[in-house]
Amino acid sequence: MAAHQEKKPSEERNRKSTQNGTRTSQVQWGRAWEVDWFSLASILFLLMFAPLIVYYFIMSCDQYQCCLIDPVIDLLAGNKYLSDIWNKTPTLTYRAAGIYTLWVAFQVFLYVCIPDFCHKFLPGYIGGVQEGAVTPAGVVNKYEINGLQAWIITHVLWFANAYYFHCFSPTIIFDNWIPLLWCANILGYAVSTFAMIKGYFFPTNAKDCKFTGNFFYDYMMGIEFNPRIGKWFDFKLFFNGRPGIVAWTLINLSYAAKQQELYGQVTNSMILVNVLQGIYVLDFFWNEAWYLKTIDICHDHFGWYLGWGDCVWLPYLYTLQGLYLVYHPVQLGTANAIGILMLGLIGYYIFRMTNHQKDLFRRTNGNCKIWGKKPEYIECSYMSVDGTKYHSKLMTSGFWGWARHFNYTGDLMGSLAYCLTCGFDHILPYFYIVYMTILLTHRCIRDEHRCLSKYGKDWKRYTSAVPYRLIPGIF
Ligand code: NDP
Repeated sequence: MAAHQEKKPSEERNRKSTQNGTRTSQVQWGRAWEVDWFSLASILFLLMFAPLIVYYFIMSCDQYQCCLIDPVIDLLAGNKYLSDIWNKTPTLTYRAAGIYTLWVAFQVFLYVCIPDFCHKFLPGYIGGVQEGAVTPAGVVNKYEINGLQAWIITHVLWFANAYYFHCFSPTIIFDNWIPLLWCANILGYAVSTFAMIKGYFFPTNAKDCKFTGNFFYDYMMGIEFNPRIGKWFDFKLFFNGRPGIVAWTLINLSYAAKQQELYGQVTNSMILVNVLQGIYVLDFFWNEAWYLKTIDICHDHFGWYLGWGDCVWLPYLYTLQGLYLVYHPVQLGTANAIGILMLGLIGYYIFRMTNHQKDLFRRTNGNCKIWGKKPEYIECSYMSVDGTKYHSKLMTSGFWGWARHFNYTGDLMGSLAYCLTCGFDHILPYFYIVYMTILLTHRCIRDEHRCLSKYGKDWKRYTSAVPYRLIPGIF
């Protein structure tokens, strides 16, 4: 078994039950209990159209050289019928089903059966058994953090089998991309449906379940907070990190190999995409313990949004730049390539440092230095469902004094850099920055709504101290 490196939650717990007047409003934090019409309409839209959007993007590359407009023109002009496009789409194959099953089974094996050893020899890396944040029901879950190890083992095996033993071609992912899409959808829907049934009939922690009474909302946003099978198989940590994010770098490598096969060279734009997105993926696994404290893990329930999203949306749409570059091998001028690299690295630096500052601040309960000084903060309190009162702190210095979500700003700069590698001939690669802008702006609003109901007037004091969300002085 892995060494148990348990940390105490940084927030001080006041175990005395409090019966003051603020309790009723404060225990409602977490995802919504009631569904407004706008949320319901958005959810129905996504349930119906998100799978089609993914199909449309991938099909456009397969049949129309990544041009998003041409399929519509063809259909409107009567040059093609929907059935023509559908009939040209590769179907599910036994080969793809075999590859995908092996892939997911191997990731489950790495997650469940191999306790982390990286933290034993990598200085500064936090792995092994770690604690998550306090849930609304007051539970503190333990997680086996071994994502970095899974990523390393997977990539070593990939290189060995693709380039040394020649068990499969390094283009295997690209070559089976659409058949694999059907497999990813099957898993995404299966796991979301299973999570819903589990939430009703055998939840891991009944007190952390939420039922709005609206089937579609519950299916999409999830019922159970932290569904698990056994002690360690945590759905959110597994699906959030693997198989999608481990696959991200392999998918990009497969695209690079395809460029090499088709054109005899790998363009600098493809190298940039592989490097910048590779840094982002490695950062994710290096900081997996920290991700336990992010919204996906510590606030979102597990439903279709995470289950299907992690299986399908993430691997297929986050990798569009590499896919595009297979069809359009852009060779950037040196100045442009350096400019894009700088934008990506600065964005990454802001993203990482902002996240690091909050993590350090919360881990040390404010007893640390941010930019060489003691951090400034606002004291705040909140309550869990059992009435236990907790104390926490909101930092108002460092990057967190510039804007309330400056980590998102850095993320957006990095996202823009990926898109710019593809030049300006087509809009398809820019989907990512448009999507990330919508996602992160919506996240700001969603998170702030949750924080307001969690911290009440303390949150208002915080927003007065740090008035901007993403860009100081503007928004
Ligand atoms: P944050 O890491 O910003 O976490 C928000 C939470 O931090 C709040 O709910 C609150 O939680 C706490 N908090 C807010 N303000 C402060 C403060 N001033 N001081 C201390 N704690 C504070 O958000 P996310 O989890 O959304 O994002 C984590 C990272 O992941 C971001 O960098 C984001 O860009 C990235 N991301 C990437 C995505 C992708 O698809 N590529 C998707 C989503 C996120 P509490 O209740 O503990 O007070």
